[in-house]
Amino acid sequence: MTLSLTESRPGRDGASEGAPAWTLTLRGESPRAGPRPGNVDLMSEGFETLAIHAGQEPDPHTGAVVPPIYAVSTYKQDGVGGLRAGYEYSRSANPTRTGLEEAMAAVEGGSRSLAFASGLAAEDAVLRTICKPGDHAIIPNDAYGGTYRLFSKVHERWGLRYDPAPLGNLRAVAAAMTQKTRVVWVETPTNPLLGIADITALAELAHDNGALLVVDNTFASPYLQQPLALGADIVVHSTTKYVGGHSDVIGGALVVRDAGLGEELAFHQNAMGAVAGPFDAWLTLRGLKTLGVRMDRHCDNAERVVDLLLAHPKVTSVLYPGLAEHPGHEVAAKQMRRFGGMVSFRVAGGEAEAVEICNRTRLFTLAESLGGVESLIEHPGRMTHASVAGSPLEVPGDLVRLSVGIETIDDLLADLTQALG
Ligand SMILES: *Cc1c(COP(=O)(O)O)cnc(C)c1O
Repeated sequence: MTLSLTESRPGRDGASEGAPAWTLTLRGESPRAGPRPGNVDLMSEGFETLAIHAGQEPDPHTGAVVPPIYAVSTYKQDGVGGLRAGYEYSRSANPTRTGLEEAMAAVEGGSRSLAFASGLAAEDAVLRTICKPGDHAIIPNDAYGGTYRLFSKVHERWGLRYDPAPLGNLRAVAAAMTQKTRVVWVETPTNPLLGIADITALAELAHDNGALLVVDNTFASPYLQQPLALGADIVVHSTTKYVGGHSDVIGGALVVRDAGLGEELAFHQNAMGAVAGPFDAWLTLRGLKTLGVRMDRHCDNAERVVDLLLAHPKVTSVLYPGLAEHPGHEVAAKQMRRFGGMVSFRVAGGEAEAVEICNRTRLFTLAESLGGVESLIEHPGRMTHASVAGSPLEVPGDLVRLSVGIETIDDLLADLTQALG
């Protein structure tokens, strides 16, 4: 790619290739590289420590333990071009957003992260950065509905071609590759069928063909799966889901390891402008701190829900990568810490029964989205995946999807039992 980048980002001066982003900026101070004196080296710290501390040093002016929400658009300059800490205008960078970006880079093991107004804004920025008209993409044959719509209704009009492929089948992916394939787009686990793709194998396949591997890590979250370490080039998040975790904010993020790619994405983030606002960035950062403990409880509860569904006569199949009989179980066990909080199942009574179950739950709230502390239930065919009806990505009508929350498990099991009847 041949972009000339004229802007450098705040606090990035002196950044070495691949250095962790969180070391680079202390808000309100001149940028310094490296860990703070007397502080432990966060590079060697665990996931929860990074989620709580990376990019979130106490405010240097007041000592406020939680860094403030910088509700500001522009920054006083000390003489023309004399930027304090590199901040100039909040589309280009805002300290609260920088905090979130540094934290996301740390928890995904990347060098650079960029926070967007939504997951789809982040995806759009990826495609417009790495693809041009005439290029080709391979997408999952059960991609998130909004992702499919972005490819089929938006980017195809601008000349980006795509083919859906079953990503669990490496031969099928290899067969879908063309000379123009620029990106292999991966979701694992997929939504709503919980299919598993082998990130390491797909990265190799993509790289052998000169393509980049993009992984939408929304369903797993960085706590359960870290695609960059497995060979992915770009990680995409809808931080609306597990990272935010409280169903109170829409957001998206990208994370990369390669500094040059990070710079190109940052150029497009600023040039296109769909940035995360400071309030949204702050809420997302607040959610991220508890991601590890929340995910463990999501997984605990999902495992119990799976047991209940497996034993229920009305349930014909349970889709959960933690089950030994799940076709992707071995790969999931290799690349995930645990198997997540999303569970889908099919029912004997077909679409009518599936819709009825969604209508009957009391604690599981009938709603789209996922990944919050509260349990949600939905009918993908008529709700989240209505936009893929009639396409190769259509989902079965007898399918119900659960986002298992972190409520008391006995209450969740009782609710499902009464709803199943
Ligand atoms: C929700 C979601 C998105 C889109 O994110 P928004 O924040 O809603 O724009 C992308 N991918 C997956 C897997 C999602 O669940």
